[in-house]
Amino acid sequence: MKIPFIDLKAQYRTIEDDVRSRINAVLEHGQYVMGPEVHELNEKLAEFAGTKHAIACSSGTDALLMALMAHGVGPGDAIFTTPFTFVATAEVIALTGATPVFVDIDPVTFNIDVESLRRAIAAMKSGERTGCRLPRCAKDLKPRGIIPVDLFGLPADYDPIMDVAQKHGLFVLSDTAQGFGSVYKGKRSGSLGHVAATSFFPAKPLGCYGDGGAVFTDDDELSELMQSVMIHGMGENRYENVRIGINGRLDSMQAAVLLAKLNIFPGELEQRQRVADAYTEQLAGIPGLVTPTIPEGYKSAWAQYSVLADDRNLIQKALRDAEIPTAIYYPLPLHLQKAFASLGYKEGDMPVSEDCAGRIFSLPMHPYLTNEQVAEITGVIRDAVS
Ligand SMILES: *Cc1c(COP(=O)(O)O)cnc(C)c1O
Repeated sequence: MKIPFIDLKAQYRTIEDDVRSRINAVLEHGQYVMGPEVHELNEKLAEFAGTKHAIACSSGTDALLMALMAHGVGPGDAIFTTPFTFVATAEVIALTGATPVFVDIDPVTFNIDVESLRRAIAAMKSGERTGCRLPRCAKDLKPRGIIPVDLFGLPADYDPIMDVAQKHGLFVLSDTAQGFGSVYKGKRSGSLGHVAATSFFPAKPLGCYGDGGAVFTDDDELSELMQSVMIHGMGENRYENVRIGINGRLDSMQAAVLLAKLNIFPGELEQRQRVADAYTEQLAGIPGLVTPTIPEGYKSAWAQYSVLADDRNLIQKALRDAEIPTAIYYPLPLHLQKAFASLGYKEGDMPVSEDCAGRIFSLPMHPYLTNEQVAEITGVIRDAVS
């Protein structure tokens, strides 16, 4: 490919010396798991996100799972989330034995639609299903929590979500795997919701060189519980097991990489914004093409630059012919995936998610994309549709 979808090599060239010396330090001290780098990273992450606690862990999936397990989520619990997300968001709900309840998205932000969320909770509580699709087993479920997803790096609308949660006594777990670095009404991703989970998978806005993730909260008790869950449900010491947990630790090498990358992360976020602005300006006014809308008071982390196209195949083919990669996130919403078939959803249940899945695709997005490359990409798209 002429233009990489995500250019981690260009990034590595700018931090090479720092990464190598930090990894060498790990090799020298030999504390490979939960070494001093992990503790330093936890402090830096909490400072960056503006939370009291941050706990780096083994992946974004485990971060979500740790937060659910710390809340004691299990069979009979309903957790509300969107079907237009990476599978892990709903997978962890099912892993705990709880039931994912899908709520359709807003057609502009691609994030959970708060009015649909209100309706779904009300329908579950009243047992009346008017105009609301619920899982087959809904009458046996009790609402417990909400997982808003910051899709493509744009925060969900947390203020009304927190109001809904408070009204019904639910917890809010922010899935900010794609949103780390974003801002909602002056608050950073990680500090939104009661607890937040992010991912450091290499392709995310802040990524390590393998799998990694983190949880964030201001709640002291929840933080201790998540720390315990992360280390096999440990109590006062490693050999006292007070609950069922997982092996969710981050290793020191990945923490070393993240410390180096966190230093350049604010600058990278600015570069992502530059690329997004250039795309939006150059793609304006193309018939049948919708570029992202960032509502007032929001800053996206621009994990992806995703557009809706009436003729997606035509544009993707023209870009492929020009050796420019694209990707579709997500071609099939989760309520229609085989893994969730037992919930009993069918086509037509989540019309906005289904419509977006049929029209969406993402363009190359990373901080090292040059203005010339953006112009080349948008030029190919203009030519294809004219
Ligand atoms: C990537 C991602 C996850 C999972 O993160 P991993 O680190 O890959 O386990 C969860 N939710 C969303 C929305 C994601 O994009």
